[in-house]
Amino acid sequence: MTVLCYHAVQPGWTAPMSMEPAVFAEHARWLARHRRVVPLHAYVDRLGLGAGPRWRDVALTFDDGFASVHDHALPLLVELGLPATVFLVASTIVEPGRLVDWVDRPPAEPLATLEIDQIREMQEAGVAFESHSYWHHDLTTLSFAECVEDLRASREVLEEVLGHPVRLLAYPRGRHDGDVRAAAASAGYTHAFALPEQREEPGRFAVPRVGIYHDNTIAHLRIKLARPYLAVRSLPALAASRRASSR
Ligand SMILES: [Zn+2]
Repeated sequence: MTVLCYHAVQPGWTAPMSMEPAVFAEHARWLARHRRVVPLHAYVDRLGLGAGPRWRDVALTFDDGFASVHDHALPLLVELGLPATVFLVASTIVEPGRLVDWVDRPPAEPLATLEIDQIREMQEAGVAFESHSYWHHDLTTLSFAECVEDLRASREVLEEVLGHPVRLLAYPRGRHDGDVRAAAASAGYTHAFALPEQREEPGRFAVPRVGIYHDNTIAHLRIKLARPYLAVRSLPALAASRRASSR
């Protein structure tokens, strides 16, 4: 089982975090054909049961809540019947028009984030939404109290907008440490997703994902799908992290 992490699907933006719509379409069609794409919640539920991974299963996630996901990924997700989860930055909802100031190599035009109407439309189409923090700060640079406050505010705002409990978090840039993981638990999340660039200890608050970037072809996707399976196999470490986080 692999959780894939995409960001923007925006034509002409060549930063690593953005994918050309045509390339994303190739990925989506390949995944629909060769893997079983499951909702992120199904994966999380299975972690809770301590059930083993199923290597063909893949979950799709998109970080940051860019409007390009609505414009260029949603039609394809609907056409192919692929479930997906978008992690939203809550401040972009509270302050519509908040400039996206957290990306490297931004495009020439300001980056649009999802508006409430688009979120509702996507919800109705079966897309799930969870939290990507309030400000998109690097959480490892905050004090424990600041971190809890940011993550709690994000959860509360999003629950209001989405109309359901928000229990999943994706760390901005995947960055976390022991304090951040404890803050996530304290702020009411049950699981948090990372984006490890090298092997790190997996756990309920460090669930590994695999980043997919601008130049990634189907060949890269296949290699990346093979690799994390090995990491996820060591998820019995979940039990240990649960004990640690309940201190
Ligand atoms: Zn992000």
